[in-house]
Order: sequence, then structure tokens, then C-alpha cells
Amino acid sequence: MSESSTSSRESGQSRTCFCGLTSNQFTATTPMNGGCRLFKCPRPEDIACRYWEWRDEELSAHVSMFIHTQKISLNVIRKERNNLKKTLDEFLGSNASDLKKVTCLEKKVSNLDSNLKRWKNFCCCHGHFLFVL
Ligand SMILES: [Zn+2]
Repeated sequence: MSESSTSSRESGQSRTCFCGLTSNQFTATTPMNGGCRLFKCPRPEDIACRYWEWRDEELSAHVSMFIHTQKISLNVIRKERNNLKKTLDEFLGSNASDLKKVTCLEKKVSNLDSNLKRWKNFCCCHGHFLFVL
């Protein structure tokens, strides 16, 4: 059974499981019982007792199926969002690399400009124009 958990304290109701603990409230997302809330032992599955109890009346089949398909759509949207985030991160990462390259090239151009100015000054000071720039 696929479920999501919420604290039973949030709902203002509580139940006690066979362990004597306050149970957690879950919402079923299966096609048959989608949207129905249930109480269940708060311990992890491997050490939980067998206690569980429906909190809600049974929903009609089309409502449960609607909730189930909405859950599937939500998962598809989440997956697409995560893929877009990954693509964006890769894009931004590659742009950062390109920015470093541009900065490096600008520095090289600036150094070449400085060297060119020194050569021009050298040539002007010594009266030797060997070439036209
Ligand atoms: Zn228990």
C-alpha cells in the first residue's frame, strides 16, 4: 500500500497502537483507497505492530481513482521539475566555465594591449617605426 504520513496530533485525534504508542495518521494513495486516512503504528515497518484502523469512511471508487491519478500526475510533474532543475544547473555550470574563459581571454587581450603600447612608446622614443600598426 502506498501512503503518506502526517502527524495525528495535527488532526486533533489520536489512537494508541498495540505497542502503546500514539499512532500516526497516513493517507492512502492506492487506486482502491486513495485519499482515505488511516491510523497506524508510528514505528518503522520492520518493527511496527500490526495495528491499523481506517479513520475515514470508504470513498466512492471514482473519487479514490481521481485521487490516485492526481497523485500519479503530481509525481510526473515532480520528476519533470527535477529534470529541469538538473538541466538548469548544468546550463549555469557551463556558463560559469565560459565566463572564466572569457575573463581569462580579456586579461590576455589587456596584456597584449599593454605590450603593444610599450612597443609603440619604445618605437616613438627611439624614432624607429618599423611597421605600421
Ligand atoms: Zn505499534
